Amino acid sequence: MKYFSAAVIPGDGIGPEVMEVGMSLLQAIGDIHGGLSFEAESFPWNCRYYLQHGRMMPEDGLERLRPFDVILLGAIGAPGVPDHISVWELILPIRRSFQQYVNLRPIKLLRGLESPLRGKGHEHLDFVVVRENTEGEYSNMGGRLHVGTPYEMAMQNNVFTRYGTERIIRYAFELAQATGKTRLTAATKSNGINHSMPFWDEIVKEISLHYPNIQTSLIHIDALAAFFVSRPEAFDVVVASNLFGDILTDLGAAVVGGLGLAPSGNINPEKTYPSMFEPIHGSAPDIAGRGIANPIATIWSISMMLDHLGERELGRLVLDCIEEVLVEGKVRTPDIGGKATTQEMGKAILAQLYRRG
Ligand code: ATP
Ligand code: MG
Repeated sequence: MKYFSAAVIPGDGIGPEVMEVGMSLLQAIGDIHGGLSFEAESFPWNCRYYLQHGRMMPEDGLERLRPFDVILLGAIGAPGVPDHISVWELILPIRRSFQQYVNLRPIKLLRGLESPLRGKGHEHLDFVVVRENTEGEYSNMGGRLHVGTPYEMAMQNNVFTRYGTERIIRYAFELAQATGKTRLTAATKSNGINHSMPFWDEIVKEISLHYPNIQTSLIHIDALAAFFVSRPEAFDVVVASNLFGDILTDLGAAVVGGLGLAPSGNINPEKTYPSMFEPIHGSAPDIAGRGIANPIATIWSISMMLDHLGERELGRLVLDCIEEVLVEGKVRTPDIGGKATTQEMGKAILAQLYRRG
C-alpha cells in the first residue's frame, strides 16, 4: 500500500468550492486504486485568517507544510486584502522556500471544447509552458527615489542568476526529452533588455548543445505572444522567465478555453521539498458563493500532481475522464457554455472515473 500525504489549502472565494471537488477526487482515487491512498490535512490559511490573526499563516506555517508529499491550493485573495499581502505572505514564501522553481502549465485544448482558435486550422493545440518561478523580474529588489517631487522615480531590478537560469532551462530540455518532444522554444527579449536577456540566451545556447536532437529556438516575447494565437501548433515546450511566463500562460489559458480549465504545478523537481498544485485562476469574487465555478482546473491540477508522484497512468486516467465528460457535453459549468454547478461538474467526472477505474 502506498500512502501519499497532501496538505490542502482551500483558500478564498471559489477556492474552497473547487477544492471540495478536489478532496472527493482524492477519495475516489483511493477507492478505485486499492494500492494507493491519500492522507489529506486541511489548513485554513486565507484572507479571513489574515483579518483575524494579522498574518496569512502562522509563524511555523512553512515548517508544518514541509513534511507533506504535496500541497494543493485552491485560490488566495479577497477584496479587502491587498494582493501584496495575500500573495507575498503565503504563495510566494511557499514557492520560494520549497524551491518550487518550475511553474509547469500545460496549454492543451481538451477534446470536446471549443477554442477561440478552433476551426482556423489549429486543431492540434497541445504544448507546455515552463515558467521560472523563483527569480527574474519578480525580485523584490529596487525602490523609489525623490518621492513627492517631480523627479520621483521607481526602479525594479531583474535578477537572473546562473544557477537559477541553468536549472530552469535544463528542466525544460529534460522535459522535452522525457516526453519525446522535439522542439524547445525559449522566450527572450535580448533586443530590448540588454543585460539579463543576452545572459539568458547564452545559457539556452550552452545547454542546447547537450540536446542535439531537440530543435531549439529563441523568440522575442512580443512575437512569441502573437504566435501563441497565429500558430500555436508550432510549439512543444516553451521556457520563459517569471514575468514572460506569467503573461504567456494567461494568454495560453485563453486560447484553450479560459481560466476555469487551466491547471498548474509549482514543482521542486528534486523532491527535496513538497511541490504545490493549483488552478491558475484566482478567487473570482464575482462568482464566489454561487456554486458555479468550474472545478476542471483543480481536477486537472490533481492529475498533474499524480504525474509528479510517479502515478502517470492514474494522472492520464483522470485527464481522460475530464475529456470524456466534455465530449459527452451534457454537464458543463456556465464558463464553458452550460448550466451545471461546480458539484454537478465534479460528480460527472468522478462518476466517469468510477466507471473507467
Ligand atoms: P484574484 O484577485 O484572486 O486573482 P480575480 O478577481 O483576479 O481573483 P480570477 O480568479 O483571476 O479573478 O479570474 C478572473 C475571472 O475569470 C473571474 O472573475 C471569473 O469570472 C472567471 N473565472 C476564474 N476562475 C473561474 C472558474 N474556476 N470557473 C469559472 N469562471 C472562472
Ligand atoms: Mg487575478
